[in-house]
Amino acid sequence: MQSRFIATPKVFGWMTFFLFLSLPAFFPGHAAGSNGFVIRGARIFDGHKVMEHTDVWVEGGKIKAMGNGLKVPTDVKVVEAAGGTLLPGLIDSHTHAWGDALKKAEVFGVTTELDMFTDIKFMQPTKKAQAAGENLDQADLFSAGSLATAPGGHGTEYGVPVPTLTSPGEAQAWVDARMAEGSDYIKIILDDGHAYGHHRPTLSMETIKALIEAAHTRSKLVVVHISTQEDAKAVIQAGADGLAHLFTDSAPDPDFASIAAAHHVFVVPTLTVLESVGSVASGASLTTDARLEPYLTGDDTSNLKQSFPNLPPTISEKYAEQTVAHLKAAHVPVLAGTDAPNPGTAHGVSIHRELELLVRSGLTPVEALTAATSAPAVAFHLEDRGVIAPGKRADLLLVKGDPTRDILATRDIVSVWKLGVEDDRASYRAAIEKAKEDAARAAQSAPAGVEAGLISDFEDGTPGSKFGVGWMISTDSIAGGKSTGEMKIADGGSNGGKHALEVTGNIDGGLPYAWAGVMWAPGSQPFIPVNLSSKKNISFYTKGDGQTYRVLVFTESGGRIPAQQTFTAGPEWKKISVPFSSFNGTDGHDVGAILFVGGPAVGRFDFEVDDVHLD
Ligand SMILES: [Zn+2]
Repeated sequence: MQSRFIATPKVFGWMTFFLFLSLPAFFPGHAAGSNGFVIRGARIFDGHKVMEHTDVWVEGGKIKAMGNGLKVPTDVKVVEAAGGTLLPGLIDSHTHAWGDALKKAEVFGVTTELDMFTDIKFMQPTKKAQAAGENLDQADLFSAGSLATAPGGHGTEYGVPVPTLTSPGEAQAWVDARMAEGSDYIKIILDDGHAYGHHRPTLSMETIKALIEAAHTRSKLVVVHISTQEDAKAVIQAGADGLAHLFTDSAPDPDFASIAAAHHVFVVPTLTVLESVGSVASGASLTTDARLEPYLTGDDTSNLKQSFPNLPPTISEKYAEQTVAHLKAAHVPVLAGTDAPNPGTAHGVSIHRELELLVRSGLTPVEALTAATSAPAVAFHLEDRGVIAPGKRADLLLVKGDPTRDILATRDIVSVWKLGVEDDRASYRAAIEKAKEDAARAAQSAPAGVEAGLISDFEDGTPGSKFGVGWMISTDSIAGGKSTGEMKIADGGSNGGKHALEVTGNIDGGLPYAWAGVMWAPGSQPFIPVNLSSKKNISFYTKGDGQTYRVLVFTESGGRIPAQQTFTAGPEWKKISVPFSSFNGTDGHDVGAILFVGGPAVGRFDFEVDDVHLD
């Protein structure tokens, strides 16, 4: 697959598929008293430097005053913080936000996300609510909205409509359309995929130059996605304000950092996603950190353990780390960004990994913290945040210990405030714990009927099942695709039976992971995990038009990405038996759904299934 620094097609698609499984609503943070509060005795990292034992008085959502032994009225609530460190709320300078991303972010101390491409249907209402003073229980969103890419180029593969362009003459209208939609800055893709062994269309340098000029005419910043050193140099020289990602195709040339410095660009390396691109699941260590793990959903945990498979061994995240060291020496601003929720990352939590990797690259802990606070505030002209100073927003993060010496201490979170309102981390944690318990409990009890093993023989003339939820149509339309599917009871089943389930439809090529077919779930509703581990195989009979089809199995531990096996439906009934273990090694203890689907090959399809068993 192509350099997928946005969200893999699979993830974006199945994410949508899974939206109705998102966390139960939790309570918004409780408001501070009208006279605010004072945080006493913490070490302060103010966005630039460290101050010992300084008090910070918050009132009306802003920092009112700070100082040693600060005098405040007696009715001002006191937060004792001696031994801890108070930081500006963290800023993640590269994410893709939708769903409950921004809530997750705030729980982990990220109070601002700089989104680098999302669906404007998410961006617009979110920014509107934020401007109205709502959304205090979630990170603030700034967003590029849509991105600039060529038809069929990187960014078009996710099922989100992208207005593409092909020539310099379209640049000003394209930029103006983004501004009308509410984009805060402009994101451009320059990536023909060759660093990753692929080929896909990309914008010409002439069009990129015209886009940069068009954005600058409207006083908008431009961030450009690159994946090679050659492209990075080209866009810097074309006037880009910032780089999204560093290159992993080569060690930095001796002049790279000086070119960046001479052109006053900022750089968002996104080391955590680059490490995952290099086949290392960058987020795996976060999932076993007791300070973080209780706040991770099952989906987050599963995604943090993923990496991008099958990319050329020549690419290396180490090149990006070397480049960070060069940029530091050349005084080029480096900003912390994660590219969540790509494989190996998750919203909020991954900033802590990015900070660790920036330090591994040679930044001091204070420089790494600057990269997640004042540096992005300066780069993106966010004058109200990123520092702790009188008059600034009370977006704050209190941790135990001293992250200005040990960067891992950012994980030991005590409290997070946005506009002086404390995030209700306890309720968030409790909701996650409950969801995990419910899932475990549901997975423990296999429903009646599992022992007998028969799911459906369709002999009663309906698409029902002996246990669980009967068969239903599932298509990629929920992920923005156009594939269609129908099912009906056909005459003449396998083994001399009277009926079978016939599935027909059309796979549309709009999505690379296109699907249409039928879904069955063993629980009381789809995606409730059920323990089927007393059985070892899924078996069924099939016949059809000779095409290749897929069995998809969703498990709780596999997160939102299904495991799959293929089968061929030929002219005669044939028995297919697939062990659970062939679906990414599952033992079947937490199965949420099983699907028989056509796709991703496009066109009409027609197959039948019958006598679906667990044995
Ligand atoms: Zn991205």
